[in-house]
Amino acid sequence: MAEQPRTPLKCEVQGSSPGWKKLPLERLLSAVLANLTKEHHGFESHCVDAVGIVEKTSATDLQTKADRLVQMSICSSLARKFPKLTIIGEEDLPPEEVDQELIEDGQWEEILKQPCPSQYSAIKEEDLVVWVDPLDGTKEYTEGLLDNVTVLIGIAYEGKAIAGIINQPYYNYQAGPDAVLGRTIWGVLGLGAFGFQLKEVPAGKHIITTTRSHSNKLVTDCVSAMNPDDVLRVGGAGNKIIQLIEGKASAYVFASPGCKKWDTCAPEVILHAVGGKLTDIHGNALQYNKEVKHMNSAGVLATLRNYDYYASRVPESVKNALVP
Ligand code: AMP
Ligand code: MG
Ligand code: MG
Repeated sequence: MAEQPRTPLKCEVQGSSPGWKKLPLERLLSAVLANLTKEHHGFESHCVDAVGIVEKTSATDLQTKADRLVQMSICSSLARKFPKLTIIGEEDLPPEEVDQELIEDGQWEEILKQPCPSQYSAIKEEDLVVWVDPLDGTKEYTEGLLDNVTVLIGIAYEGKAIAGIINQPYYNYQAGPDAVLGRTIWGVLGLGAFGFQLKEVPAGKHIITTTRSHSNKLVTDCVSAMNPDDVLRVGGAGNKIIQLIEGKASAYVFASPGCKKWDTCAPEVILHAVGGKLTDIHGNALQYNKEVKHMNSAGVLATLRNYDYYASRVPESVKNALVP
């Protein structure tokens, strides 16, 4: 059986029904959380240095051995356990026999104790789509900015992101030898989000978080139009949502194509579960059904609070340049 994720979980549930234990969504989440705990160990023992770097579409679009190993581990483990599931992983890997060492078949027992929100009780395994970003923030990972790195697993039903996990394997890596390394943040719409302390930026402050390695004129034009008090340029979509829920930034603004569905699915759920909002730059909700185009062509706009303030400041020129 897998070890538990390392952050204590607390949970207050309202309007839920028992029976969660037998349901596909619950079994899937339990397996996913067990998998992510395995990834913690994988990162710690094998992956601190970025090796086997491959350029995909450009010098800022990279894949490392860690991206490949983690995707093989998560996708193969889930596919064995849930053969009817649709699993979409970021990396385009040749089909090959996966080393048994990479397979995780445990369950994370804590979640089996939670009641299931009643709206999910009729979901069948084949109705779920899982979006996997095995390593979000790869560019920053290759530069040694380890706390920018997250592993993202999002679960969608009827095109909507309903459950998500952000694992941050190097959380606390600079906090000294006694600090516990790594954490798992997870959430389910209707149940809540766990594994972190929700915090807001001081009232009236406009702190924008945006890309540090995929910027262009549209991105900077849009950020400037928000009239920010400060701009926090960090890597990774998962990491940027963490900035929002931990009170470091008030809006994630990325007015450019480049970010994909596996980048936004899990982070969106965590943000929505605590009352935030993530859309494209026009204000459209993102869709996560299996046929959907992977690219978030019309960018990303996400806030914990005051979404309308930021949405109202997106310039028309930026909107016109970004077609959904
Ligand atoms: P960033 O904010 O630059 O870290 O990007 C968030 C996510 O979107 C990461 O997974 C990036 O790899 C991806 N992304 C954003 N822009 C691009 C781009 N121009 N090319 C490739 N990937 C991108
Ligand atoms: Mg990514
Ligand atoms: Mg990735």
